[in-house]
Amino acid sequence: MDHFLYKDGQLHAEDVPIAEIAAEVGTPFYCYSTATLTRHYRLFDEALQGMDHLVCYAMKAASNQAILKTLAALGAGMDVVSGGEYARARAAGVPGDRIVFSGVGKTREEMQAALAGGIRQFNVESEPEMAALSAVASEMGTKAPITIRVNPDVDAKTHAKIATGKSENKFGIPISRAKEVYALAASLPGLDVVGIDVHIGSQITELEPYAQAYRKVAEVTEMLRAEGHDIRRLDLGGGLGIPYTRSNEAPPLPTEYGALIREELGHLGCEIEIEPGRLVAGNAGIMVSRVIYVKSGEGRDFLILDGAMNDLIRPAMYDAHHDIIPVMEPAAGVEQQPFDIVGPVCESGDTFAKQRLMPPLAEGDLVAFRSAGAYGAVMSSEYNTRPLIPEVLVNEHQFAVIRARPTFDEIINRDTIPAWL
Ligand SMILES: *Cc1c(COP(=O)(O)O)cnc(C)c1O
Repeated sequence: MDHFLYKDGQLHAEDVPIAEIAAEVGTPFYCYSTATLTRHYRLFDEALQGMDHLVCYAMKAASNQAILKTLAALGAGMDVVSGGEYARARAAGVPGDRIVFSGVGKTREEMQAALAGGIRQFNVESEPEMAALSAVASEMGTKAPITIRVNPDVDAKTHAKIATGKSENKFGIPISRAKEVYALAASLPGLDVVGIDVHIGSQITELEPYAQAYRKVAEVTEMLRAEGHDIRRLDLGGGLGIPYTRSNEAPPLPTEYGALIREELGHLGCEIEIEPGRLVAGNAGIMVSRVIYVKSGEGRDFLILDGAMNDLIRPAMYDAHHDIIPVMEPAAGVEQQPFDIVGPVCESGDTFAKQRLMPPLAEGDLVAFRSAGAYGAVMSSEYNTRPLIPEVLVNEHQFAVIRARPTFDEIINRDTIPAWL
């Protein structure tokens, strides 16, 4: 459920007409709903009620300071994957003891910054990383709290580019090697082993892969405890999928996911962490764009928009589907027509949809890409020197620009000319 609905014949974000934001901010832009972000965070939090838990929002999905502050105020922790994200989380007021640090390639500088600033735990992914982290922590006269990410070798049944839990993926250590890797971790002076981490992928639309993975985590927990390790925390990753179109079957709800966690892992008495990103932010954001031209081609018609692949790369990168709807509500029963919906960038990959049925649209009309809140703005670039598009946050009847569109001068002045030119 989200808060982007037609009211009085036009699309609103909560109580604000999208056309009003477009008139003030210009197009294209991203627009997020505070109510939807809040609702999604709470669904996860409530799904784990009764268990000692922390929902660590995977901020790589959407990391604007205003979004982080909105979630942090509700009590959210953060899952960060870089020193930059760690700095962003801290700048948004998230305390270090609510931040977990994931990723296969943490540098020594990133480890140092997180240890100095405060960290809940590092989710460590390899033996060389363990050695580096132990050395960094020891030099600083401290111990780094860690979980070790195990790769359970399950098929998350999602797009290959976002599956992370198969043995051929670069993530984690093979679960079959857990015993020896935990023994090594326990022997390193700068590490404090607190638990186990697992994350099997993204846009997962069935519970079965989770059940398989979490069953393996339960077995490993018991095995490691028998070996003498104090396994007291389980980080279960993120990845729960969202409905990208209303016609598809709905993926499992956070409530059902929470029930599964309770069933598979509740008896272990561990503190539970989860790292949802897409489900918190995805349907809490839309990208709004304007039709520049309606072009008739040979055998097909094109809607050429002012938004492009550099603004929303998911269709080009993952063949992702986004529902695209007119901002002015079409009359009931109006005849639809197939269009290829494209941006202005000089690449054939700059295609959002092929032969998509749309109601009649004309130059200047506004359209909204639904479900664009996660992996949208954060993956955008300035390819073709198209400025990063603004982000707007709505809260009931108010809206605010939470990242402004840079001017051409600001973009150009980021470059510097060497003295010899
Ligand atoms: C990307 C990622 C997540 C979030 O995945 P979603 O599909 O957005 O929920 C969580 N944990 C880790 C380690 C990740 O890399």
